[in-house]
Amino acid sequence: CGIIGHVGTDDALDTLLTGLENLEYRGYDSAGIAVQNGSGIAVQKRSGKVEELKSSIGERHIEGNVGIGHTRWSTHGPPTDENAHPHTDGTEDVAVVHNGIIENYAGLKTWLRERGHTFTSDTDTEVIPHLIQYYLDEGMESEAAFRRAIDELEGSYAVTAMVDGEHVLYAARKGSPLVVGVEDDEFFLASDVPAFLEYTDTVAYLEDGDVAIIDVEGVEFTDLAGESISRELETVEWDP
Ligand code: GLU
Repeated sequence: CGIIGHVGTDDALDTLLTGLENLEYRGYDSAGIAVQNGSGIAVQKRSGKVEELKSSIGERHIEGNVGIGHTRWSTHGPPTDENAHPHTDGTEDVAVVHNGIIENYAGLKTWLRERGHTFTSDTDTEVIPHLIQYYLDEGMESEAAFRRAIDELEGSYAVTAMVDGEHVLYAARKGSPLVVGVEDDEFFLASDVPAFLEYTDTVAYLEDGDVAIIDVEGVEFTDLAGESISRELETVEWDP
């Protein structure tokens, strides 16, 4: 339902929680975040309100400047803690948030189970981190593994992923909006501009079929095959 991402030099957690609060108007049943701290991906997620997510974080140290967050509006599986996003591959090497519906998830799940993958949620989304991990295990670089995994998906999606140890966000869209925000060396990603509007009004929209690779150096837009494309930065006028 709602996506927020951050990569830059500032800590990610505050930006993610602010983004999730800004996305509350869309309606949702669960919320969660994943942050990279250099030694694994820390995930915290809950059914219920962002307020409940915040109190579940409590004193837990979640440090790192790469992170993703999600507010979920369930389509596959009830609103439980396990079904909340972000989803991982189980080892927490890869974390993913997703808006939309993966129509061929059942077949992908069977295929991955036959190859030793274990699933812990009822969601369609969980196949995405497992697919990325599968291609990483095959020896692909992260960017190629992300593209390959996205290429397998049928349905509608806005997907954002991160891989442990990399200061990078990978994003793709088909039929569900995603927008990148830029402010000096801080980069944002969201399903809706209001998520990060207090940080920047300089944005570039992904179009269907686009992949965006975002790190502290900048944003690169390509098509699904990896061909470079250009998406202009624009200043957004927004009346809240
Ligand atoms: N289909 C996914 C799920 O049920 C994502 C739903 C959404 O867009 O929030 O978890």
